[in-house]
Amino acid sequence: MKLKSFATGQWFESSDAGNPLPDAITGEPVAEISSEGLNFAAMADYARTTGGNNLRKHTFPQRAAMLTELAKYLGEHKADFYALSTSTGATRRDSWFDIDGGIGVLFVYGSKGRKEMPDGNTYIDGNPEFIGKSGSFVGQHIYVPLTGVAVHINAFNFPCWGMLEKLAPCLLAGMPAIVKPASSTAYLTEAVFRKMIESDILPEGAVQLISGRTGDLFDHLTCQDVVGFTGSKSTADMLRQHPNIIDKSIRFSAEADSINCSILGLDAQPGTPEFDLYIKEVLNEITTKAGQKCTAIRRIIVPESVSDAVIQALSEKLSEVRVGHPGLKETTMGALASLDQREEVRSRVAELVADNEIVYGDVENVEVHDADPAKGAFLGPVLLRSNDTSASGSVHNTEAFGPVSTILPYSNTTEAVQLANLGGGSLVGSIFSHDKDIIRELALGIAPWHGRVLIADRDCADESTGHGPALPQLVHGGPGRAGGGEEMGGIRGVLHYMQRTALQGSPASVSYSASGDEGMIQVPINE
Ligand code: NAP
Repeated sequence: MKLKSFATGQWFESSDAGNPLPDAITGEPVAEISSEGLNFAAMADYARTTGGNNLRKHTFPQRAAMLTELAKYLGEHKADFYALSTSTGATRRDSWFDIDGGIGVLFVYGSKGRKEMPDGNTYIDGNPEFIGKSGSFVGQHIYVPLTGVAVHINAFNFPCWGMLEKLAPCLLAGMPAIVKPASSTAYLTEAVFRKMIESDILPEGAVQLISGRTGDLFDHLTCQDVVGFTGSKSTADMLRQHPNIIDKSIRFSAEADSINCSILGLDAQPGTPEFDLYIKEVLNEITTKAGQKCTAIRRIIVPESVSDAVIQALSEKLSEVRVGHPGLKETTMGALASLDQREEVRSRVAELVADNEIVYGDVENVEVHDADPAKGAFLGPVLLRSNDTSASGSVHNTEAFGPVSTILPYSNTTEAVQLANLGGGSLVGSIFSHDKDIIRELALGIAPWHGRVLIADRDCADESTGHGPALPQLVHGGPGRAGGGEEMGGIRGVLHYMQRTALQGSPASVSYSASGDEGMIQVPINE
């Protein structure tokens, strides 16, 4: 089966043979992929003219209602997506994060758009600034939708969520999108996308799909367009240096590698609830999606005095992990997305063992249940202990995108903060402690280097969503190595697809301009 693209309102199948996309479990091809022959300039043009204009005929709440309707529609068809998701190596639980998680983002933005955005296409930002002495000259910031197209380039690990978490704020803003999923798992993205088109909920031109490479698309972008990228730092660095991106100052937002950490507080000794919660969470982060999560805990920062106890507790739990066919409910960890990916993880572990030692697991051998270990991309969990926690240590610079994590011992809270921040900027860091002073020092110490900080203790354990899951209400992104971008985070994620403009003039004209849309809220001036 050749995956199709959806361009200028039609399904497009490339005439060339395409690259085979193997099933992560059997190695058999699930589909072939190629975008050869697509007219990328026409796609960009069609998005801007047909898609953008159609979307912006509606108001924020009307587009929010579309997102909710879409979420419901996709929810009705999710059994098909779950079936296909198994081929990516994902267990049912992994698929829940990807599929239900993605649909959940649509629901949240649907709700926020109705409740928190005005009935128009202009978003008023803050109060008027009174600049003239008599009040006849004022300034008012507004946000208006960009008139271009958003190009969404996604990573292989969340083929459904990755597409929907970018689309929800973008469509709500009134901007059309061209989605380019990572090739290896694009068959699941294509299936979800197909249902979106079938649903007929979104206006014509709102979304297009590239199954395959982006060709010369970047050459046709302008300053009204946005590129949202998720993937490796090296690809992000390459794409953001595209001459046209630089020349036209095109918005380029990246979510890249992140060597996230989780810190066990000095107070959280074995026997405390926080210690037990910590072991549970680290185990979860190593095994969910077989560690292929951008937010996964890569560095386990623990007090030196309890590092042996942590290794022992984690090793016991890891020995109970059942690696095997992801379609079976007894399986607790599925496969990596591809054999290539497994080779990639093995070579990253080879880099890590230069100055860290493996204390649990074996990258070459793993017992696999109900599947052929020679054909499937299986890899057992691997736990390391760092012998070099200094800035040059590989643990702070090497991302093994699989079920791999490293323990770093520390002696005092100041050192724990330093170790956390040596990741060079991360999506998320977590703190397990019940001591307010320790929490304060850790949280404020690591906050400048992290997009999100989870503080976990016995008081919030029942409702906590945990270290990994990125939530539509909260920032997903991080400084430095994490890409420097910001996605979701509630309404802020929508504003990313809009231009902030300062209107200046008399109160009447500023108010009139900002409220020109039918039903638009009034700027509260001179009251
Ligand atoms: P990748 O190899 O960098 O690919 C990412 C995306 O870029 C894919 O869609 C890929 O398409 C595309 N791409 C590659 N070269 C391109 C080019 N020249 N022009 C246009 N597009 C191009 O990363 P990956 O292996 O898919 O994902 C794994 C990485 O993503 C990990 O490092 C992980 O940390 C990171 N990640 C980060 C986040 C986050 O939110 N921060 C989330 C998930 C994953 P093809 O597949 O067709 O090559």
